[in-house]
Amino acid sequence: MMQFARVVDAYEKIEATTKRLEMTELLVGLLRDTPKEDLDKVVYLTQGRIHPDYEGIELGLAEKMVMRVLAHATGLEDARVMRLWKEKGDLGLVAQEAIGARRQKPLESSPLTVSTVYQHLDAIAREAGEGSQERKIRLLSELLGNATPREAKYVVRMVVGQMRLGVADMTIVDALAATFATKADRARVERAYNVSSDLGEVARVLAPKGIDGLNEIHLKLFRPIRAMLAERLETLEAIFERMGKAALEYKYDGLRVQAHVSPKKIELFSRHLENITVQFPEIVDGLRSAVRDRAVIVEGEAVPVDPNTGEFLPFQEVSRRRGRKTDLDRMSKEFPVTLFTFDCLLRGEEDLMGRPYTERRKALEAILKPTEGIRHSTVRVTDDVKQAESFFDEALQAGCEGLMAKALDSTYDAGARGYQWIKFKKEYSAALSDTIDLVIVGAFAGRGKRAGSYGALLVAAYDEEEDLFRTTCKLGTGFDDETLLALPDRLKAARRDRKPVRVDSRLEADIWFEPTTVLEVRGAELTVSPIHTAAWGAVRPGAGLAIRFPRFTGRWRDDKGPEDATTTKELLEMYRLQLKQTKKGSVALA
Ligand code: AMP
Repeated sequence: MMQFARVVDAYEKIEATTKRLEMTELLVGLLRDTPKEDLDKVVYLTQGRIHPDYEGIELGLAEKMVMRVLAHATGLEDARVMRLWKEKGDLGLVAQEAIGARRQKPLESSPLTVSTVYQHLDAIAREAGEGSQERKIRLLSELLGNATPREAKYVVRMVVGQMRLGVADMTIVDALAATFATKADRARVERAYNVSSDLGEVARVLAPKGIDGLNEIHLKLFRPIRAMLAERLETLEAIFERMGKAALEYKYDGLRVQAHVSPKKIELFSRHLENITVQFPEIVDGLRSAVRDRAVIVEGEAVPVDPNTGEFLPFQEVSRRRGRKTDLDRMSKEFPVTLFTFDCLLRGEEDLMGRPYTERRKALEAILKPTEGIRHSTVRVTDDVKQAESFFDEALQAGCEGLMAKALDSTYDAGARGYQWIKFKKEYSAALSDTIDLVIVGAFAGRGKRAGSYGALLVAAYDEEEDLFRTTCKLGTGFDDETLLALPDRLKAARRDRKPVRVDSRLEADIWFEPTTVLEVRGAELTVSPIHTAAWGAVRPGAGLAIRFPRFTGRWRDDKGPEDATTTKELLEMYRLQLKQTKKGSVALA
């Protein structure tokens, strides 16, 4: 029986370090001490959840309710708990202090085990329907009754959905490889994760069966896989240089959808592996008639279309559907989306991921007959720059962002960003007229008209190598009054007292945020700056890259996780491109 206190020991140490290597070592120590039957639970808890994302079983109890339970479990007055919360701003710390000061101890208490904690949390997450609030309260009281102050801190952070240890999934992959295989096997562990999207499952298989056991983790219907991603290049010539003859597809600007289809059931997943089936009834209907009697997994991009003109609409029209339960039918009629399918990963029992692009495309065209609302992406195979240029113009005229080039012999590499897929967007020839997706990491208090709200946000790009969010500008324009006033509320859950461990900043923000929220920014150009830490030292020692005249485009990228934001490497590439263009004398900055 694994004691929960052992896990808490590790978490406290992990929280105290910012170094990925140290974190990995602490995790390895923890995993080694964990009995096999508890491993998946420890992995999920470390990720701050109790099941893989795609299952959609989530905690996230209301803070008010947790405070009530805390008061009840400790015998402290409501007002005192409330005061503590105002003071600390982190309900976990409130719980730690409240349990430490509790007036009444339960008559019988026994030390918490990992399995009790997990089972209670799971039960809390699954409770639904009439009387569920009361049952949740009872389950949480039971847990807190047996918890030490330190344990209470993590239990409460879990139930409000704010665990945020700062451990990236890939760090857990490192630790799993180091514990149950060798560092050299890391790629195989990562592959198993990319195919299953479930680190708990990887741990469940790896621990008893070792590295070869992972071969049994296969693509499975209704379990999404992590999406294959694209690199970017700035010219068509450079693309052909790398790929030779390639398939060029229109690059649609919408929402990526992974559709799992069987004769009985259809489920849709976002790029972020959320189940988004209810948001798109029109895609479900379309697929039902487009795919007959087959089990398939296909991928495509969903783009809203104006039913009157047939023209593409801005992506915002779709993002409004997020989180809604009602009105979806009306919205799907008002601005229906068209799904442009571009890949096929599973056909019947057959896993096509290891097959070349050309074969997957053929399979896609054979199993899916286009219907209203379901079409194949437009594609042209060529190695001729002139032809590619005119195809690119066609794509822009059709309302697309540009082209996606795909290597003809490329397999589907789940979760990988590589040069097998290369995006080529219209804006590249005009430097920063391309938009950038940045993550909110801090805010500065507003003055004058903005008093009481935020005056500016501190935003960051993602450093993939170091797994850090490095700042690249203060963002204060592009917000209308309503959006501005709603900001503190929108960001409330991510608010922190201290700079989060994965944030690298030389500026001292008034308020810090755990990197969670991504927004789209347009800027005039990139400049070298001693204040911002993105691509630090890459252009000049003692300086990073900053965005000049940044402006919020109004588009929240709720479909992107913080790690999907523009990377510091991409910023550096944009800077170099800009430099080249400036030298040529074409300072065509937006
Ligand atoms: P980006 O988000 O700029 O990195 O571009 C990659 C995204 O382009 C993918 O995740 C898809 O959502 C989208 N996309 C649009 N058209 C295609 C296509 N034909 N093939 C692959 N991805 C596409």
